[in-house]
Amino acid sequence: MEIPEVRLPADGTPRDELFAELRERKRADADWRGGRTWSLIYPAGEDVDAVLREANELYLHENALNPFRFPSLADMEREVVAMTAGLLHAPAGASGSMTSGGTESIMQAVRVARDRAVAERGVTDPTLVVPRSAHPAFAKGAKYFGLELVQIPLDADLRADVAAAERLVDGRTALVAGSAPNYPHGVVDPIPELAALAQERGVPFHTDACVGGFLLPFIDDAPPFDFRVPGVTTMSADVHKYGYATKGASVVLHRDGAHVLQYQAFLYQDWPGGLYGSLAMAGARPAAPVAAAWSVMRYLGVSGYRRLVGRVVETAGRLREGITALGLEVLGDPRASILSFTAPNAMAIGDRMDDFGWHLDRQTEPEALHLMVSPEHHRVVGAFLDDLREAVATAGESRGVQARYS
Ligand SMILES: *Cc1c(COP(=O)(O)O)cnc(C)c1O
Repeated sequence: MEIPEVRLPADGTPRDELFAELRERKRADADWRGGRTWSLIYPAGEDVDAVLREANELYLHENALNPFRFPSLADMEREVVAMTAGLLHAPAGASGSMTSGGTESIMQAVRVARDRAVAERGVTDPTLVVPRSAHPAFAKGAKYFGLELVQIPLDADLRADVAAAERLVDGRTALVAGSAPNYPHGVVDPIPELAALAQERGVPFHTDACVGGFLLPFIDDAPPFDFRVPGVTTMSADVHKYGYATKGASVVLHRDGAHVLQYQAFLYQDWPGGLYGSLAMAGARPAAPVAAAWSVMRYLGVSGYRRLVGRVVETAGRLREGITALGLEVLGDPRASILSFTAPNAMAIGDRMDDFGWHLDRQTEPEALHLMVSPEHHRVVGAFLDDLREAVATAGESRGVQARYS
């Protein structure tokens, strides 16, 4: 990041001037309230918004580092983990914690798996085996914690190729993972098959349900992905995606209890400041995401999530139909909320959609456009498809907007 030539002003700025400037700056940002963005933010309606605001305000200043000082936070965190564990059918005795997001949940699972491989199986040169479509958080974990990343190629349905995975999992493997669903195409990997082959070799398996953790439990014919699948040892589920919390809230779960959580925990007293202990990568932690996650989960309950998931699935279905009717190809057989679609001139179509004020992520392998549907998108399906029809009809050359990931 280049550092701009900005200095702390000599004197303070009056509050109204300050916020006038802040609002002005914010005008350049994506208009997510209008349903124009298709990732990053998951609006679930004004009532949910009000709950999130109130929870955030109540816990603006607290610090989730020390559970003894703020017992209400420790309780809420335990309850968020417990409610999530229940949804994902974690067995009695499972353990877990809240993290700052899906990336940290995944990195914690990778780190715990590495340390277990070293301590329990004497692995000296660990690998991490994940589908080509796995989220970059796995590669980040491999890089941070010194594992070699091994990618499972995808089959024709864009799911991890199980036969190829058989050949990649060996004595060095610290962890195998699959996504439910994955980010690029929204398809669910063959979790039972992948988890079984990991289990046969005595290797842990992680289901990345960062997207699906609060969607698939409310979809009756969802493919098996959670702790009911034998061999699934850890899972990640983002409360700040389809759990609808504000950012900074995810859950990592371990099938096995205390002895695995020991690997995640950091305890230290070799300094003059007394015993320091933490399950998170951060030290001081914002309390607001914990309060927001707990509040929105309690506010919605099973029936609330079912209603919102129903709306997401219905909206995604209408979009899929409309996109296919325009002669564009939807990739794979996406479940729930993510669609990626392509055409020979997909990037040029994306540029036209930019002109119309829509923000679509670009993908590669093949070049495609990406939609992550949230409950509020049901309002814009018609307008979106009208503009897409126009974009298909008038797309010229692509301006070469880079594939972007979010
Ligand atoms: C978003 C996402 C992640 C990472 O979550 P962050 O909260 O952005 O760190 C992991 N896996 C999948 C499938 C995702 O879509």
